[in-house]
Amino acid sequence: MTKFNPEINPLVENTTPDKLLGFQATVSKIPDILMLTLGEPGFNVSDEVKDAAKKAIDDNRSHYAESQGEVQLRQAAVDYFNKNYNLNFKGPENVIVTLGVTEAINVVFKTLLAPGERILMPVPAYGPYFSSLTLVEGVRVDVPTRDNQFKLTPAMVEKALADAKVPVKAVLLNYPNNPSGVTYTREELTDLARVFEAHNLWVISDEIYSALTYDGHHVSLAEIIPDRVVLINGLSKSHAMTGYRVGFIMTKPDLIKEMQKVHSALTFAIPTFIQDAATVALTGSQKWPAEMLEIYRKRRDRTVTKLQDLGFGVIHPAGAFYIFAKIPADLNQDGEAFALDLAKRGKVAVIPGDGFGEDCADYIRISYAAGDEQLDEGMRRLADYVHQVRQEAK
Ligand code: PLP
Repeated sequence: MTKFNPEINPLVENTTPDKLLGFQATVSKIPDILMLTLGEPGFNVSDEVKDAAKKAIDDNRSHYAESQGEVQLRQAAVDYFNKNYNLNFKGPENVIVTLGVTEAINVVFKTLLAPGERILMPVPAYGPYFSSLTLVEGVRVDVPTRDNQFKLTPAMVEKALADAKVPVKAVLLNYPNNPSGVTYTREELTDLARVFEAHNLWVISDEIYSALTYDGHHVSLAEIIPDRVVLINGLSKSHAMTGYRVGFIMTKPDLIKEMQKVHSALTFAIPTFIQDAATVALTGSQKWPAEMLEIYRKRRDRTVTKLQDLGFGVIHPAGAFYIFAKIPADLNQDGEAFALDLAKRGKVAVIPGDGFGEDCADYIRISYAAGDEQLDEGMRRLADYVHQVRQEAK
């Protein structure tokens, strides 16, 4: 590990900031740019959730919350996830309420991985996993999935474990997946679960996009191998509550007890009035995930068609709100150069694929989370840019 500044912990100094945010910062300075970059829902928080937050403030819910999470919110989470995903969590003792899924990831890594311990990571993957892992001195064992339509298989797990030659402690699965949008059937998950069990792996399952599953119903790994899974979920995507910062870790009480030590040290508790609003999000009408899902589905369908018409290679995204598209061979297949030129000349920003793992540099990720008009105008600009580049090449 290189140390350049004696004032700074080399671990932090060597942690690379998320590429996605770096690219976002660069292109957002371009005048009239239209962003199809972030996983930020364009929907507002529902009125019932807003009312709950306002009422909680008026009721002086301004004091420290219970560190692990208010009991009624943890119970609401248990009821919600048990009911929606056929799980069997017993009660509040199975839950920690975290500051978004981001904190949940950091707490789980810190609790399960001692410095130098290894974790299987199917790639491409959500970029911030990489820096969170570096900060706990965990070691990534990448499993490239691009040759199998971005899906992990038992054979890939077996091979990665054999190639690693040293013990691997855990695996991190994220589905529906950011950036590819792929998800897994019950059969696929059951087969994977058998391999995870056979190798005694902890399974960290980031299911933050579970409510945004378009084809079929989301199946949680926590249903299949409950004793081995640490389930992570949250309200950022399902309820368009990114700014409220609500996440959940759900697993066995003995593990929760250990994780609670880390959560308590990191944040102590998330704001009390936000916890009241989150409780209503989980117990209220559920209008939001249901209505959003249909809007996202339409956006996905028309955007996939447009990209295919332009010659991009698209794996059918069954969930989340991203399309991971392979740049056509007649265009610049260096995703970063492509995305930068597209941003400068085409005035539309997408994320270069290498932000999600080194072997996806010829891909771009398009987010359709923001809004219909923004998406359609962005896709028009992308088409104009592609036509122009093809014209210039003649
Ligand atoms: N996990 C994945 C796979 C994500 O895509 C995101 C956000 O985009 C997060 C976690 C972070 O979620 P939160 O906003 O709840 O911290």
